[in-house]
Amino acid sequence: MVSGLPLLLRRRWRDRGYLLADGAMGTRLMTAGLAEGALPERWNRDRAADVVAIHRSYMDAGSDIVLTNSFGGNRARLAMHGAEGELEELNVAAVRCVMRAKEDSGREVVVAGSMGPTGELLYPLGKLSEGDMEEMYDEQACALAKGGADLLWIETQSDLKEMGCAMRAAGKVGLPYSVTGSFDTAGSTMMGVSPEKLVDFCLDIKRSSIGGMFWGMGLNCGLGASDTLLSLRRLIKKLEDVGNRDALAVIVKGNCGVPQWRDGAFRYSGSEELMGEYAILARRLGADVVGLCCGSGGEHMKTMGERLAGGIGDDSVPSEEEIERIVGKAEGAKGGEQKERRRKRREK
Ligand SMILES: [Zn+2]
Repeated sequence: MVSGLPLLLRRRWRDRGYLLADGAMGTRLMTAGLAEGALPERWNRDRAADVVAIHRSYMDAGSDIVLTNSFGGNRARLAMHGAEGELEELNVAAVRCVMRAKEDSGREVVVAGSMGPTGELLYPLGKLSEGDMEEMYDEQACALAKGGADLLWIETQSDLKEMGCAMRAAGKVGLPYSVTGSFDTAGSTMMGVSPEKLVDFCLDIKRSSIGGMFWGMGLNCGLGASDTLLSLRRLIKKLEDVGNRDALAVIVKGNCGVPQWRDGAFRYSGSEELMGEYAILARRLGADVVGLCCGSGGEHMKTMGERLAGGIGDDSVPSEEEIERIVGKAEGAKGGEQKERRRKRREK
């Protein structure tokens, strides 16, 4: 078992063999009335009851790890709303919301401080130096720690250098942390990071001096269930190929089906049954922490938890064909893998 995890998670993981993360926040806030262009983090202070209700729905559905509503709580993102002066207040309030839900539900969960991307590009593509970016993550990590977060949850990332900044900041704060990439562009991240490259990068960090409290890596968001699972398959295969399967927990938090633009909003095609199948396939592939991302709700989480509690049955590693047969055709991940194979052939 990986080092650095809070006792509660270690115990549940040992007893059950996996952990449950939570589901979407952003899309749930929109459903609850968050206006387009409004700052989601302000709801931690101004509409706390709504945020608490969302956390509560995941706790009641069995989540072990609940993420704070602080995805965009870094200086760069807050500044777009003139809210950089509220950074500490909104991040601390984000942790409080999970704690309030925890008190209401009476369920023991771990509070994970969500840190999404800054939206800025590093030099030379942008103006920001790595030092500046690290400072931004530092600031948010400190605020989340001050609020009382148990973990830091670096997510939806696409650039390795940015991930490095976030991970160094998390390491400095001294909380256990994880990182997940979003493979939404032909099986890679927007910045061209493949699942295999992410594994190499994470193993390097794990071996480095800041790696002590680094416990988990994987993927979240991106495209639909099928693409997510195909990327997960590559990621775990790579960990196995390099003989390091147990160095880090593998996290998967996939979107609730495929997002489709309809009637002026994104709608997600994933049914509860489909997300139940996704969870079983994720476990058969070897994921240790299973959750959901955009478009999901408490009911999806509940079905997923129930399916997993019933056992995974066939424990063979599903093939790409089987994955696509069960949860539908992939849009991008497979093309990416073919591209990667072609690239490797060229390098050889
Ligand atoms: Zn998402």
